[in-house]
Amino acid sequence: MIIHLKKTVSKESAAVLAAENKAFHIVSEGTNVLITGSSMKEVPSGLTNHTENSWIFPNDMQLASRGYKNEKRLVKFGTTQIGGKSNNTLLIGGPCSVESEEQIRSSAELLVKLGLSTLRGGCYKPRTSPYSFQGMGLDGLKLLAKMRTDYGLNVITEARDATHIDEIIEYTDIIQIGAKAMYDQGILRACAKTNKTVLIKRGFGTTLQEFVQAAEFVLSGGNENVVLCERGIRTFETGTRFTLDLCGVAWLQEHTNLPIILDPSHAMGYAYGVPSLSKACVAMGIDGLLIETHPNPKIAKSDASQQLNYTEFEALFNQLKGVAASVGYKMI
Ligand code: PEP
Ligand code: MN
Repeated sequence: MIIHLKKTVSKESAAVLAAENKAFHIVSEGTNVLITGSSMKEVPSGLTNHTENSWIFPNDMQLASRGYKNEKRLVKFGTTQIGGKSNNTLLIGGPCSVESEEQIRSSAELLVKLGLSTLRGGCYKPRTSPYSFQGMGLDGLKLLAKMRTDYGLNVITEARDATHIDEIIEYTDIIQIGAKAMYDQGILRACAKTNKTVLIKRGFGTTLQEFVQAAEFVLSGGNENVVLCERGIRTFETGTRFTLDLCGVAWLQEHTNLPIILDPSHAMGYAYGVPSLSKACVAMGIDGLLIETHPNPKIAKSDASQQLNYTEFEALFNQLKGVAASVGYKMI
């Protein structure tokens, strides 16, 4: 249940009421908001005199649901914004992993040339094998931060676990929670305490309900800047790396108020499918796309088969502009 307290209730009193009722307390758009479990079916008696408005939900999809906020949330980072009524489709580009200054600088320069704003690059890689390249760690993060300063780009990188979450919060504009890390309570709770934008990827065995519940951890902890990212789920099919769940995207658009970004690179696993899949995604009227690109994909230290080279990335961006325009969106 979500309860909006009356304006006459101070922040301090709201905190006391929250503690008494074992509720979460956030201040949203100037209103003291209490959130209880979804099992609660009526406003507790001690709160009725202080309640302005309340919402009851059938499950633990609350702050993220259309039933609570029937318009898409606007999320801002740097000078960029997505969601709300912006109708922006943000193209996030960059390599799977930051590998060297030369490599990440070349990606930054490509984005600047194309007028794009947001650079990705993994530094703490959640690899399936301990023998694969694990990422440059803090050195990579500092290179990413250097690109942010040198080119005025927003940067995004993923947290593998909670041990380095503070560094990621410090150096990036968007914190990516990876498909394998989206259940990590340490990461989710740390992300709830910052106001930085958090992009949560859907785990490959995660239901839509569980996916949204991960977002609820961040939202109910006080950070309302949450974006969902569909990156493919595991099905019986082995011809492609994963299966991009576009039905799931339609479901999220209908039932949640969070901006949605799609990642066809990880879903497909092969560069040849990324351009056409990207067009299908953009045609759905989405808030962003995450595409891996590398100066020389063949020698990439991770996800080599799915990264576009810069010529392919540029050509795709130019094609996507028309697709976005056809559904009333703008590629940014
Ligand atoms: C990535 O973005 O490089 C990545 C590892 O993604 P995912 O968590 O979706 O596998
Ligand atoms: Mn990758």
